Order: sequence, then structure tokens, then C-alpha cells
Amino acid sequence: MEWETVIGLEVHAQLSTKSKIFSGAATQFGAEPNTQACAIDLGFPGVLPVLNAEVIRMAIKLGLGINAEIAPRSVFARKNYFYPDLPKGYQISQYELPIVKKGFLDILLEDGSVKRINITRAHLEEDAGKSLHEDFHGQSGIDLNRAGTPLLEIVSEPDMRSAKEAIAYLKVLHSLVRYLEICDGNMQEGSFRCDANVSVRKKGDPKFGTRTELKNLNSFRFIERAINFEVERQIELLESGKKVTQETRLYDPNKNETRSMRGKEEAHDYRYFPDPDLLPVAITMDQIEKVRAELPELPQQKRQRFIDAYALSSYDASVLVTSKALADYFETVVKESGNQPKLAANWVMGELSGALNKANLEITESPVTAAQLGKLVQRIADNTISGKLAKTIFEAMWNGEGDVDAIIEKRGLKQVTDSSAIEALVDKIIAANPAQLADYRAGKDKLFGYFVGQAMKESGGKMNPQQLNEVLKKKLNA
Ligand code: ADP
Ligand code: MG
Repeated sequence: MEWETVIGLEVHAQLSTKSKIFSGAATQFGAEPNTQACAIDLGFPGVLPVLNAEVIRMAIKLGLGINAEIAPRSVFARKNYFYPDLPKGYQISQYELPIVKKGFLDILLEDGSVKRINITRAHLEEDAGKSLHEDFHGQSGIDLNRAGTPLLEIVSEPDMRSAKEAIAYLKVLHSLVRYLEICDGNMQEGSFRCDANVSVRKKGDPKFGTRTELKNLNSFRFIERAINFEVERQIELLESGKKVTQETRLYDPNKNETRSMRGKEEAHDYRYFPDPDLLPVAITMDQIEKVRAELPELPQQKRQRFIDAYALSSYDASVLVTSKALADYFETVVKESGNQPKLAANWVMGELSGALNKANLEITESPVTAAQLGKLVQRIADNTISGKLAKTIFEAMWNGEGDVDAIIEKRGLKQVTDSSAIEALVDKIIAANPAQLADYRAGKDKLFGYFVGQAMKESGGKMNPQQLNEVLKKKLNA
């Protein structure tokens, strides 16, 4: 039996405003518990929430970024539930009339094709506080600093068909909110959180299966693992004649499993109703156009420009626009290299990214600057050094030994391009290997590589490879 996976994602992006959505309290992460929650965040009797204008501007930005409709009128609603970290007894959210609806993002699949993921809606809401269990024995601590922090909840259609597609969508969205500068994207600190809704159905079945909602997913790696685990679990249940229960499940990264957390509430359990303390949000076309005019170049546009201007593959372009910092770095390398985009892309995505990953560094923390890497690429392009030697030089640059030219000079690594020097060396190698020469001339073509190897070894890897090949061919076949 062939099963099909169905995934819909709910992303909570914490908006990077200085103050909260309905109060003037600070939103900074990591402050002493309960030092950033004012009477409004705590919902004291008699207080009134006042909407932070900045969150509206940010929601419009997102709406434009996901090609969505921006509602001329949206309404805040109370979502009623009890939890110790929600002292008001309700969360202010949006329900029937969200600020953004009907958008989409295009993702690149592994086979190179493009898939459109539809976005149902994005609505504004306030975050709740945090319950702390670790430092308390037999008790829970409550930190209300996070209460009232502005969130945009971005809800996708159930359009994804594998964990890989879900991750691709999340990465595109993650990169978009950072380009728009509406969310810092920090997953560890919970600024970009994802709930994954997962179900399976038999291939060809028009009806969706019962879904579960997975929580506690704070890295792309965990999201992918959790979805894959959950898909297997549901298939096993169904194949043994059991049913999937609609519920919320918690992912445990240590055990790599999901476990039941609570039954899933239905929307009517929350008794949503329009918040009488807040006016509807009215947005004019002028307001939208003003925000549109201030939008930066977005990842999809930048990607297309990289393809057109630098003749990059769509895969390379997608990787390089993941963050604005990476894209800027790449463009500086191209400029400094004397316009070698393909080689620049290879170095940024290969050697540099590998080294950054290994050292667990961000592109902005790279010990090798874009200008330095650009010069290295230039020296490869103008044949001063071979690609192989360039790796050694890159390592030296990484370790702070200076610019490419200084390292070449200091270590005597300049590539030999002087043809008389190459010819002399080739003559010497041929003379020293009479048996191999005879075999080669008798038809053992493979020995060509042997001669190349000997010549490279003799020259300490400094021969220009193309020239060496030509001279060797000429002399061996003479
Ligand atoms: P709720 O608010 O209770 O979480 P929604 O109807 O808003 O419910 O749906 C939440 C998410 O679940 C959406 O992203 C949607 O695409 C996804 N979803 C709905 N049905 C399914 C299903 N059968 N399988 C997988 N995902 C689903
Ligand atoms: Mg939900």
C-alpha cells in the first residue's frame, strides 16, 4: 500500500518591535523574569490595550512578501482559555477577519522544479508568558516577560507532501521575514516557531486523513525528524487497523519520538468573540503603497537577478540568497574577483561555507573577508595559482596569515606558467622514466596521468595544469 504524506504548517514569527503589541513594555529577550510585563500585559482590571502601529506596518510587509491580500479591515478577537502563563484568561488574536490572507510562496524542489505553497492567512496576536519547570521542584515558575510580545501566525494550506518540502517552505519563509526585517528568525530563542500538522492518506484518496499537530520543534533538523517519525507512526497505526487520534503531540529530540500532549481543541471551544477594547484595524491603499515603496529587494527577486546577471544555476542562486548577508558577501567576492561569478559561487558555497559550518560561525563572523576571498578567486582566474593550491592559501587566510598575494609571496606558491621552465621539467621527467615512456608509446594511455603526477610532485604542485598537459602531450607523442 502506498501512503501519501500531507503537511500544513503554522509558523509563529515574533515581530521585532521594541515594545509590545498592546503596551509600552519592552520585548527584549533574556531579561530578569517578570521585569518586562506591565499592567496591560497582565490584563489588570480597568486597563486598556493600545495597538502598536509598527506591528501593522510589519504585517503589511509580510502580506506583500507572500503575494497576499491585505485586509482593508481586520478585527482582534479574544481566544478564551485558562493557563497559568495567561493571566487575562484570554489571548488577543485575530479569528474571522485576519489582517493577511490568500498568499503563496514558491519553493524549489530537489529535482529542480518549482512548487507553489499556498498560505491561508497570517494574523496578528499576542504571545503568552512562559511556564518554567526546570529550576523548581514540585512547582512551576511563571515568567510573564513574553506576555504581549507581538506575533504573526502564518498558516499554510496542507500543500506539502514530504518533510523535505516542509523544510524547503520553512527556509523560504524564514529567509523572507529576515529580509523584511520584521523578525530576527532566531529559532533557539523562539522568535520563529513552527507547529507541524501531519496526516497520511492512501495515494489517490481525495479525502485527507486525521491529522496530529506537532509542537516543540525549534530547529529545521528536529522538524524534519519529527515529521518523519510521525508519518511512520501513523502509517503503522493505520496498517494495523487502528485509527489516528486528532491531538497535539510533543516532539522529544533526545528520544526522537512524538508523544501525546493533549487532545486537540476545536475552534468553538475557545469562544472567540471580537475584543470590545480594540477598534477594528483599517488599512488604506496609500498605507500599503507606502510600505511597498520601501520594500528591499526580496529573496525571490534577488535570486532571479543572480540567475540573469551572473548566469548562476537556479540552485546556486537559491542557496546564495538564503540570507541578505550571504548574498552581499557573494556580490562583493564577484566584484573583487574581477567578475568571476561562477568561480565565486563555488568558493562561497564550497570551501567557505564548509569552513564556517565546521567552526559554527555565521557569514558575518567569517575570518576571511569577502574582499580577501575575491582576490583569491582572481588569482585562480588569472592563473597565478592553481585551484588546488588555492585551498592551501584559503586555509592560511582563514588562520589569519594575511591576503592572498602576501601568502603566495611568503610561501613561494606562485604557479609556474613560464613555458620554457615547464618544458625543461617535462624533459627531465620523461628522461627519468624510460620504461613508462615505452609502455605509454606502446598504447598504455593511462600512463599519461602518471607523468602528470610526477611533474606536479617535482614542481610542488605549482605547474599550471593546462600548460603542463599540453606540453606533456606534445612531448610524449613526439
Ligand atoms: P487549528 O487552528 O485548530 O490548528 P486550522 O484549520 O487552522 O486548525 O489548521 C491548522 C493547520 O493544519 C493548517 O496549516 C492546515 O493546512 C493544516 N491541516 C489541516 N488539515 C490537515 C490535514 N488533514 N493534514 C495535515 N495538515 C492539515
Ligand atoms: Mg493550530
